[in-house]
Amino acid sequence: MTASLKPLVVITGASSGIGAAMAQHFADAGHALLLIARRLDRIEALGLENAMCRSVDVTDIAALRAAVTEAEAAYGPVDLLINNAGLMQLGQLDTQDPTEWQNMFDVNVLALLNATQVVLGGMKARGAGTILNVSSIAGKKSFPNHAAYVGTKFAVSSISENLREEVSGDGVRVMTICPGAVETELLGHTTDQEIIDGYEAWKEDMGGVLVADDIARTALFMYTQPQNVNIRDVVIAATRQP
Ligand code: NDP
Repeated sequence: MTASLKPLVVITGASSGIGAAMAQHFADAGHALLLIARRLDRIEALGLENAMCRSVDVTDIAALRAAVTEAEAAYGPVDLLINNAGLMQLGQLDTQDPTEWQNMFDVNVLALLNATQVVLGGMKARGAGTILNVSSIAGKKSFPNHAAYVGTKFAVSSISENLREEVSGDGVRVMTICPGAVETELLGHTTDQEIIDGYEAWKEDMGGVLVADDIARTALFMYTQPQNVNIRDVVIAATRQP
């Protein structure tokens, strides 16, 4: 490991949007990185130094474990896991394809548990470490056509709070960041064009939304507090978002 390199940060969903911006900010801060997503070309195209890029589907716990083991052998123990990978497929429950809510729960919830399990034992043994879960304002309140997505994000927030209580005595911090609307590729997975159009109009009415850098900057601020300081939960949205 390079002497001046800061501890290993694992970011899931680093190939676009918020995860890619976080990768850039943590690389700029001098951290070793393990960047995970399915689209390897997109994470490699970030061109970051000391960044191991691996094509991993976060629903595959064995593949996650293998990637983390490889990165720890190169860079030392994981000090921060950012569970950022996520999927939003808005829809109405009477008409939505059930595979869409299956996918969202698999990626947004079960895969977050997978990645957490992979790193948690090491953090507890070391008595230090941070898990930052990307929830959403949709983990705090409901929105039209969001029933399944909101369900996943309420789950992220409640799992995080429960885990925080469980591991606080081990010196491990668990944090959530809950963004409002951010301009990324997230809406692109929704298949209902009417819902997409409505969402875009809502963003336009607000005069625009946040950019991924806003979230990444905040995540770095949360992480870089002293280890005995845990910013448990941050809600961040465009000023004009109601
Ligand atoms: P993007 O669609 O731009 O990014 C989603 C990321 O998740 C991609 O890197 C994608 O990589 C990855 N991902 C999805 N499925 C998998 C999978 N099975 N295995 C590995 N990686 C996967 O959206 P955002 O940047 O907006 O989303 C990031 C997080 O922020 C999500 O959890 C989202 O719910 C949350 N969020 C976003 C908000 C917004 O308005 N944009 C608001 C609030 C929260 P790949 O496809 O290459 O695998």
